[in-house]
Amino acid sequence: MAPFHNNDLGNYLPSSWSHIAGNRKLKEYWVDLICGVRNSHFRTGYNALVIGGSREGKTATIKFGVKCVGCYNFNFTTMDPCGKCANCTMNHHLWGNTGYENYFDMLNEEDVPTPIRYRFVPIDCTRVTPAEMDELIVSLQPREDAVRIIYLDEIHRLIRKGMDLDHQLLKPMEELEAIWIGSSANVKNAEGNNIKKLEKMFLNRFDYVIETEKPDALEFSQWVMERCVESGVQIDDPKTVLPRLAARSTRNIGMALKVINKAHKRRSKTIDIQLVEDQIFDFDEAF
Ligand SMILES: [Zn+2]
Repeated sequence: MAPFHNNDLGNYLPSSWSHIAGNRKLKEYWVDLICGVRNSHFRTGYNALVIGGSREGKTATIKFGVKCVGCYNFNFTTMDPCGKCANCTMNHHLWGNTGYENYFDMLNEEDVPTPIRYRFVPIDCTRVTPAEMDELIVSLQPREDAVRIIYLDEIHRLIRKGMDLDHQLLKPMEELEAIWIGSSANVKNAEGNNIKKLEKMFLNRFDYVIETEKPDALEFSQWVMERCVESGVQIDDPKTVLPRLAARSTRNIGMALKVINKAHKRRSKTIDIQLVEDQIFDFDEAF
């Protein structure tokens, strides 16, 4: 599979776990989930809250993890999907609410080593309405064999008027057979209490609470160099440029990717120190 879609590196999708920098705990969680649902037929017990800043790999990891859940020719040694089967090439619509979900049903199970039926429901919590949450919950009532993964992006946005969290989230999370994964930006308020708001409502409802982890300096540099090689981008004076990019982006992979993308659009196809200095890195605002 081509690592870059639409010739735009901003849409970079990992095709191997080695393409996801840092995030050791998040990767371990996915390895356990994939083995659990595919080999041990677990359908619950993996509810997770993933906390981390923008572009730190929350979305890329979930897209990739879901791909692994359904891959026809999954490699249990490397834990990587094949990248070629119908599941792997299907586009996971991440930002749609009800109506955009994926239901994956393998028709010819004899051809696949570990067939898995799954339903993946991504929910944009900034936009979802109480009525849509009700609809989702009703649709989850009947038991089915499929693995059901409900992804609540920016879950803290559900704390708002009109939402009855007990009935529209917390009870269903405990009672319905599904895997609930919530993500939230790790933003600090003025007092520096970053996840206090979430803590009270959610934290004890999840089997796993995982904070994103940035790569160390070496892993960051290697990741940037690999993406540059893949996309034909040169690094002018890497000994100066790579540490500076690491410092200015605070080793945030998504932000580094923007710089690589910018270089890719230049005639010179080069990252130089000026490009790194000129880049505006937008960090998370307070709540
Ligand atoms: Zn595959």
